[in-house]
Amino acid sequence: MNRHMVPEGAYPAIIGGERIFTQQNIDVIDPATGKVFATVARCGQAEVDQAVAAARAAFKKSWRLSTAAERARLLGSFAQAITDNSDQLAALESRDTGKPLRQARVDVQFAARYFEYYSNMVEAVFGSVIPAGTDRLTFTLREAYGVTGHIIPWNYPLGIACRTLAPALAAGNCCVLKPAEQAPLSSVRIAELALEAGFPAGVLNVVPGYGAEAGAALSGHPGIDHISFTGSVPIGRKIAEAAAGNLIPAALELGGKSPNIVLADADLDLATPVVAQAILQNAGQTCSAGARLLVHRDVHDELVARLKAIFARTTIGAGSADPDLGPVISAVQHQRIGELIDIGRGEAELVHGGNRPAGAQYEAGYFFEPTLFDQVAPEATIAQREIFGPVLTVTPFGDLDEAVEIANGTDYGLVAGVWTRNIGRANWLLRELHCGQVMINTFSNGVELPFGGRKKSGYGVEKGFDALLAFTHVKGAVVMMGKD
Ligand code: ADP
Ligand code: MG
Repeated sequence: MNRHMVPEGAYPAIIGGERIFTQQNIDVIDPATGKVFATVARCGQAEVDQAVAAARAAFKKSWRLSTAAERARLLGSFAQAITDNSDQLAALESRDTGKPLRQARVDVQFAARYFEYYSNMVEAVFGSVIPAGTDRLTFTLREAYGVTGHIIPWNYPLGIACRTLAPALAAGNCCVLKPAEQAPLSSVRIAELALEAGFPAGVLNVVPGYGAEAGAALSGHPGIDHISFTGSVPIGRKIAEAAAGNLIPAALELGGKSPNIVLADADLDLATPVVAQAILQNAGQTCSAGARLLVHRDVHDELVARLKAIFARTTIGAGSADPDLGPVISAVQHQRIGELIDIGRGEAELVHGGNRPAGAQYEAGYFFEPTLFDQVAPEATIAQREIFGPVLTVTPFGDLDEAVEIANGTDYGLVAGVWTRNIGRANWLLRELHCGQVMINTFSNGVELPFGGRKKSGYGVEKGFDALLAFTHVKGAVVMMGKD
């Protein structure tokens, strides 16, 4: 197959192992051109009902009775299927989201790695024997919830789908996935690949559609036992309310305004490219983006000059041309980012960017220059609101207490980066930062490391062994002994 071939045309829902086409469809837009290049099924209540019923039937008939070893083998085959199709999946993801091709390739590697990781871990899920008495055996079992709902956003559709599906499936749940209407295609494609890899029909169902239709139908469905959501704070609140209505657990990953904190003793050669990448990757459309640079005033001028140089040589273009920076997802997001940048012009010093790049090739798509604001007050709108674009704010600080106060001074608490050569200061910051993950002298985290927010970044855990356990509940058992 041609390395860059993207299957065009109409993408279905996947329900009960079947490709289901709906009467109405949703146009899928290429963010680099603003043009429609495919359509996807527009599911509503009826399709969601079917998908939940198919998942329930699969759970009862096969998945609930499967052994951990059987699921491990299937997850492993699926990881291989993703890897075998990585060229096609990366091209599809890049076209659908606008992200540079090499970033889409990394997303595909992560997608496969989630299934590999949970394939390896699932046989390590078991209960324990509790020493509660000598006349009885007291122990716990770990059981799947049953049917789990998964609603995901458009920024890393493939990566986030696999992040949430892999532990749910490994733990023995049957899943209904609702991808974002802006970037649904890779979700449909992986459900097809799952069937080819041997997953029984109904174990993984995909219901593309709008949030207010398929999304609301799924999150409020009385037939689901658990809901996982990644997206915005207002919709996260709606999901939590819907879950409360059915008294089911919800796991919410809702974004952030994460700091990169650069101390005066940091290795700037190491920090600079990573700090830039932490905001430019995926055009800043990353929940855990390093959106705020907090820098000690002794190294402020030097670091800002270096970042400005990187921003100035950043290449911009369609994802398929594999530039450093692709377009943002949609006209709506493009406009939102522009409005926040305009607020920023009145609040801080614009050092670089701030506009749509000049040139005919940028006119139809949703492009933005990499944008750098300096001397941003901690309480400024652009330092508080999640911009979800390639916009970095710089705030200088004087001492560590001030750095922590600024770092913790937003509604969010997802991740933080710390750059220092001093291990005592690194550990002190690790303790003081109110967030779910701290990365010291790096800004990368793996599939293995638990990830989850504090405050308005949400609750629940993704990734790592903890996420696998979170897709089970514990059953306690007590059995009396007796000789006769
Ligand atoms: P964004 O604003 O970045 O698009 P959203 O939180 O709106 O983020 O979207 C994340 C996911 O939530 C998408 O799959 C979207 O379709 C879905 N969604 C949006 N509105 C609702 C809703 N009312 N109920 C359930 N899901 C929704
Ligand atoms: Mg939305």
